[in-house]
Amino acid sequence: MQTLPATFEVLDDRFAGCSGDSRFEQLYGDCRWAEGPVYLPAARSLVWSDIPNDRMLRWDETTGGVGPFRHPCGYTNGHTLDAEGRIVSCEHGGRRVSRTEHDGSVTTLADRVDGKRLNSPNDVVVRSDGSIWFTDPSYGIDSDYEGHRSESETDGCHVYRIDPVTGACIRVADDFVRPNGLAFALDERTLYIADTRRNHLRRFAVGDDLRLTDMGVLAECSAGVFDGLRLDTEGRIWAAAGDGVHCFDADGTLLGKLHLPEPVANLVFGGPKRNRLFVTASTSLYSILTNVTGAPGPLHARS
Ligand code: MG
Repeated sequence: MQTLPATFEVLDDRFAGCSGDSRFEQLYGDCRWAEGPVYLPAARSLVWSDIPNDRMLRWDETTGGVGPFRHPCGYTNGHTLDAEGRIVSCEHGGRRVSRTEHDGSVTTLADRVDGKRLNSPNDVVVRSDGSIWFTDPSYGIDSDYEGHRSESETDGCHVYRIDPVTGACIRVADDFVRPNGLAFALDERTLYIADTRRNHLRRFAVGDDLRLTDMGVLAECSAGVFDGLRLDTEGRIWAAAGDGVHCFDADGTLLGKLHLPEPVANLVFGGPKRNRLFVTASTSLYSILTNVTGAPGPLHARS
């Protein structure tokens, strides 16, 4: 395992105390395009996607070893955990959102909307009410590189919600160019969604009826493009960008950056204390211990 000097760039006084170790670790470096990290507390493992290689990999926290988790895997991209600790996955190749059950079988949660196939679900988050929210840009059908080249059947690249009771797939936003990473604020009354093509991060209010109200652009990306998003327990937004991970206050201020040597696609807080930041960046999986704690997802919120 290689370690590299970590550079936390402080751009606002409120970033003080948010840094971490002076070095970060390269846990793996042989991916074509690493994405979708998800930490599995019960398995002491980090699972992620290597999209063009159509595989999911697993890093074992107890040994440091890396091996295959699933191959082929439907060109998965983003993953998250639901309240039962099951992996919910976006599949470019399968053009669906799927769930890995406790027995290892894979269930389709959504692959069509109004009878038409989805484009290529990219990233996903589960709300504590069990609803599953995901973005559906066309990256996985634009070429054979990270899926299967195909025509879009929908009239654009939208954001959807899966109803946990009926299983219905409901369009919740339809004015994006390429919706990508998404994350709820701590009270789940605000939803943040990145639009990679427009290169900005938007904020929506979540109503009692789960409809979204556009609250405008929260932030523009100052280096490369926005991709995956995660929050910490203070409500700060940590966003994947071209030069590393950018940290924003909930008011949209860029507080600081963790610089990394490769463009970042996604991130997740993990480890037993959720204070270890795992970052998927092009060829590599990196990690660093930080002084912040990742926001509890539905799995931890119930416990
Ligand atoms: Mg993404």
